[in-house]
Amino acid sequence: MRTIPPLSGCPVTAWRPLRGVLTDIDDTLTEEGAIAPAALEALRELQAADVPVIAITGRPAGWSEAFAMAWPVRGIVAENGGVLLHRDGKRLSTEFAQDDAMRARNLARLQACAREIVATVPGAVLARDSGGRLTDIAVDHSEFTALDYDAIAAVCDRMRAHGLVATVSSIHVNGWIGDHSKWTAATWAVKRLTGLDFDPAEWVYVGDSTNDQLMFERMPLSVGVANIARFLPMLDHPPTYVTATERGEGFAEVARALLLARGTAGSSTTGR
Ligand SMILES: [Mg+2]
Repeated sequence: MRTIPPLSGCPVTAWRPLRGVLTDIDDTLTEEGAIAPAALEALRELQAADVPVIAITGRPAGWSEAFAMAWPVRGIVAENGGVLLHRDGKRLSTEFAQDDAMRARNLARLQACAREIVATVPGAVLARDSGGRLTDIAVDHSEFTALDYDAIAAVCDRMRAHGLVATVSSIHVNGWIGDHSKWTAATWAVKRLTGLDFDPAEWVYVGDSTNDQLMFERMPLSVGVANIARFLPMLDHPPTYVTATERGEGFAEVARALLLARGTAGSSTTGR
């Protein structure tokens, strides 16, 4: 069994070059779709310390809109890099990785693939949040149903046969057309929301699942929350460190370590 060093062993010096935090949402900030109180408090403390947080998720744009407005984050990239949502004054700004014509062309292919999966993979149903999806499709495997590994693999195979990129989050199998990813999302959102070119050495990434693997592979400093244990056998590239606690409590561990290294821990508990 692979072991990952505990976050408590991460040297203080590792946090000092950091400008901000990139994070997954499901089962990293949330539990059963609701943000954990510890995670929300950690987001407030990071915002109060002027540490930008950008969330990158496989969830749909429609699901993410309210949180992009309500949570103390700079923005949310939804649909694995397809859609960027952020506050612009009092309104929500929605931007796309692909232009209107390309999205329209892809939609028919995505829908055909979804129909085939539901018809041919026993037990496969589309995710209940599918109505809010603008650039991808998602099949539920653990949110409201339970698909075994073979069925999840079959869904991935069907998506790839249709020319889709397929990834597995903690709850869904997501499929989309295009070269966007959580990595391109980071490059796009950091530039768009902070004005800075994305330097991976200046950000920590926090996640919990196989769809975070590209970030674990490419980010010099990455952290898995403790519930990542379920997915470790499937990861070729595990995170650098793992937290002692799960989900939002684990994210709060990351925030505390970063703020302690900056000497700003506990300076404020109010959002801005
Ligand atoms: Mg997740």
